Amino acid sequence: MSYQGPGFDVPQSERPRRIRRGLLTVSLAALVPGALLGWLVYEAVGEPGGGPDTAAPPSATGSPSASEEPALPSYPGQAGKGAGRSPARTPSASAPAASGPLKGKVVVIDPGHNPGNFRHTAEINRTVDIGTNRKECDTTGTSTNAGYAEARFTLDVAHRLRALLEAEGARVKLTHDGDSPAWGPCVDERARIGNDAHADAVVSIHADGAAPGDRGFHVILPGAVHAGTADTRPIVAASRDLGERVAGNFVRVTGEAPSNYIGGGTGLVTRKDLGGLNLSTVPKVFIECGNMRDSKDAASLTSADWRQKAAEGISEGIVSFLRGS
Ligand code: ZN
Repeated sequence: MSYQGPGFDVPQSERPRRIRRGLLTVSLAALVPGALLGWLVYEAVGEPGGGPDTAAPPSATGSPSASEEPALPSYPGQAGKGAGRSPARTPSASAPAASGPLKGKVVVIDPGHNPGNFRHTAEINRTVDIGTNRKECDTTGTSTNAGYAEARFTLDVAHRLRALLEAEGARVKLTHDGDSPAWGPCVDERARIGNDAHADAVVSIHADGAAPGDRGFHVILPGAVHAGTADTRPIVAASRDLGERVAGNFVRVTGEAPSNYIGGGTGLVTRKDLGGLNLSTVPKVFIECGNMRDSKDAASLTSADWRQKAAEGISEGIVSFLRGS
C-alpha cells in the first residue's frame, strides 16, 4: 500500500506523468546519469514478444493500448534474455537445487504486512525507530474492493518467488511466513532480518492502495539517508541497480506498465521515509506490483497466473542483478 506520512515527499526530479514517447526519451536522457544512457532507450511499440499486450494474461481485462499508456522504458538486464524462460525456473515442490547460477547467494524476501496484523492493532501501531524518525511498527496493508488482502497477495507472490530462486540455487529466507509470527514483524525487524542474513539482495513485496484509475507497478529505491542508526549511503547504488533490473524484467514478463501516477513513467521512485529501506545495510528495494483499488489492476493481482508472472519478473531481475549481466 502507499505509505502515508509526513516524510513522504515526491522526488524533486519527478517528471510529468504522461509525456509523449519521443519527448520522454529526450528528457530522460537529459536527466539520468551517464551510466544509464546506454540502456535508457525505448522499445518499439509492437515489438514481437516485448509489448504489453502480447504479454498480458488472458484474465487481465482491458489491457492497455499503446495509445492510452506511456511507452515502456528499457532497463539493464532486460535485453537479450529472450522471451522464453529457463525450465530451471519452473517452480517445484522439491528440495532446492544444490547447484545453479545463484549457488552461494542469499536472497531475503519480505512479504509486505501480515494477514494477522488486523488482529494485533495495538502491537503494530506502536512506533519504532527508523533512523530519520519514528514510525508505526507495521500496518495492515490495503485490499481490493472485493476484499482480497494485500497481505495475502504478498505472501502468495513471495512463495512463488522463493520457489523460482531456490530452483536457481539461491538460499532464500522470508521475513515472515503464514502465521509465523502472528503479526508483523515490525519494519525495523524486517530490515534486520536481511542484514543479519548478509543477504545479497532483499525485495519487499507490496501492492498499492491508490485511487481508481491509478495503474501500474513501481519499484521503490532507498534514498541516501544518514540519520540516527540509519545509513543507506553504502547501498544506494547497488539498490538502484537491483531495482532497475527488477523493474525491467517485471515489465518484460508481466507486460504491466510502469505506474501512471508516480515515478514519471519510469516505474522507479526513490524514498527516504521507509524504515525497511532506511535501516537496510544490504541492497534492497520494494516493489508495488499494482494498485489494488483499481479494478483493472485488481483483475491482474487476483489472478494466480498473473502472480506467477509477477514472481518470474522479480526473480529474473534478482538473477540479473546477482549475476551482474
Ligand atoms: Zn504494502
